[in-house]
Amino acid sequence: MLVLNIALSKGRILEESLPLLARAGVKPVEDPLTSRKLILDTNLPDVKLTVIRAADVPTYVQFGAADLGIAGKDVLMEYDGDGLYELLDLKIARCRMMVAEPASLAARDDPESWTRVRVATKYVKTTQRHFAAKGIQTDIIKLYGSMELAPLVGLSDRIVDLVASGQTLKANGLIAVERIADISAWLVANKAALKMKRAPLKALVDRIAGAVE
Ligand code: ATP
Ligand code: MG
Repeated sequence: MLVLNIALSKGRILEESLPLLARAGVKPVEDPLTSRKLILDTNLPDVKLTVIRAADVPTYVQFGAADLGIAGKDVLMEYDGDGLYELLDLKIARCRMMVAEPASLAARDDPESWTRVRVATKYVKTTQRHFAAKGIQTDIIKLYGSMELAPLVGLSDRIVDLVASGQTLKANGLIAVERIADISAWLVANKAALKMKRAPLKALVDRIAGAVE
């Protein structure tokens, strides 16, 4: 029996992935939100789930530690490897990657006039690429989280972060001034597995595709 391994992102994506997988007929036998196990059995004897840090999903899939993965587009845009295919937009965990700054600054600022910006973000490559395409130089301050703190403590006026409702920005006196990308979670696949495990993988991917709303 060929086993199919699906790498799932912890956190927000996991909460929305589980109902989607359930609609596709894949149900973990233990609750991944509470279990301490890292590899979970499912109702299907040939499907296992691995729950890992969101940013590690592309690495697992690229190197074949997982055949499939569910990862945010934000994570995929930052990832450089070429051993994986982006198969399917799952339309879950939707948000936008935005440039934001203090509302007081935004009132007198015009992003079209920028020639050089200092930006705090965890999305270093995507941010550089976005501004480079517009001929704008960037000084990036790499953070691993809580980007909205950066303007409050004087690290940088501008940040690049994910925004859903905008409540976190608002609570910290920030406002989004430019959109970099629409974000959602995607199903990705290991390239070699798509050949070696073609029939069972295709069957599983088709069921997941049918469960996308
Ligand atoms: P941690 O918060 O544990 O350091 P993380 O930031 O990678 O890790 P999450 O905040 O759960 O974990 O984010 C994981 C993924 O969820 C992101 O890569 C993104 O695709 C998606 N995501 C993040 N923020 C939002 C949001 N506000 N709305 C919808 N999806 C989001
Ligand atoms: Mg987070």
